[in-house]
Amino acid sequence: NKQVVLRDYVSGFPKESDMDIVEGTIELKVPEGSNDVLLKNLYLSCDPYMVALMRDIGGVEGFQNYTPGSPLTGFGVSKVIESGHPNYKKGDLVWGFTKWEEFSLVSPTLLFKIERTDVPLSYYTGILGMPGMTAYPGFFELGTPKKGENVFVSAASGAIGQLVGQFAKLTGCYVIGSAGSKEKNKLGFDETFNYKEESDLDATLKRYFPEGIDIYFENVGGKTLDAVLLNMRVHGRIPVCGMVSQYNLTQPEGPKRHVSTVTRPHLGLRHGTIDDLTHLASAPTISPSAIAPAGNRTRDLALILISKRHVSTVTRPHLDLRHGTIDDLAHLASAPTNGPAALVGLYSGRNVGKQVLVVARD
Ligand code: NDP
Repeated sequence: NKQVVLRDYVSGFPKESDMDIVEGTIELKVPEGSNDVLLKNLYLSCDPYMVALMRDIGGVEGFQNYTPGSPLTGFGVSKVIESGHPNYKKGDLVWGFTKWEEFSLVSPTLLFKIERTDVPLSYYTGILGMPGMTAYPGFFELGTPKKGENVFVSAASGAIGQLVGQFAKLTGCYVIGSAGSKEKNKLGFDETFNYKEESDLDATLKRYFPEGIDIYFENVGGKTLDAVLLNMRVHGRIPVCGMVSQYNLTQPEGPKRHVSTVTRPHLGLRHGTIDDLTHLASAPTISPSAIAPAGNRTRDLALILISKRHVSTVTRPHLDLRHGTIDDLAHLASAPTNGPAALVGLYSGRNVGKQVLVVARD
């Protein structure tokens, strides 16, 4: 039973050498009287939040942190090979929370049965799995898009960004994406740009959005967020999905400044600048309230966190693709690869599309 285990707690950027591939032992049997299920893991999902679980900080957002010497945990697609639970039987296909190893004995609390098998099973790590359940409510429920609105999405070629961009196109929005290389910029949006080649992101956004941005789907934070805040329209919305550019920094850059201001919406700071507000910075948390930082277009901007509530949409595996079909979206899936390299590659942009680790195909 090959496993990918954490070697030791990580600080800063994760490296391949922070993980070991070891031969673990597991009895391929559900213990007598247990409700657990024994899984053969097929596809494992590489997700940016996983680095937070590698740190010695006691877990995040309801996920426990990893233990050195034990396999990583995460979302995946698996086949039940033995079940102690009445709702599962041998041969069932499931997606949900499992471990980074070939076979896992898990409690089925966070598993969902796969009913539709007429699509590649790896889609249940992407559009039909956690990223789909995040992108869909994030864009439609929090972004509340309308036809003709101006949408900007960062990390646009990634698991979440590609879906948001496609949802926006299907809604009839004008969509610009940013991604970190030329080949990542073939996304079928209206335009895309490589943020690494732009020396002045504010000017870049003004070029693409002379009338400003209605919805910014936030995946990266940092400099991109700084520039976006100067280009939002009145009543603009920013669903904050994540800020991957900040996860491995010991001193987070922009978001702390901006984000912390939203924790004090009662101040009614409608016309100040970010620097005026910096001294108010405290907890780096986001509340679903209105803020008004710098720039003449940013009044009444709402910054909205895609929070646990939306993460828990993984419990609603009925993704209703009112605006398109799975096939419209699935072609953007990334080529599968191997474990530690696949995971750390997320933080340097090595992945194109959803990063999936293939353990077995059936
Ligand atoms: P991706 O598939 O987009 O992979 C991460 C991408 O982020 C990389 O490919 C890279 O693309 C980009 N990136 C990495 N480092 C930086 C950086 N320093 N600056 C700018 N871009 C960077 O990941 P996901 O689509 O799975 O996740 C996107 C965001 O959504 C993340 O912030 C993640 O934490 C968040 N998320 C939130 C969830 C929630 O429930 N709220 C659930 C799932 C994801 P490039 O080459 O373009 O730089």
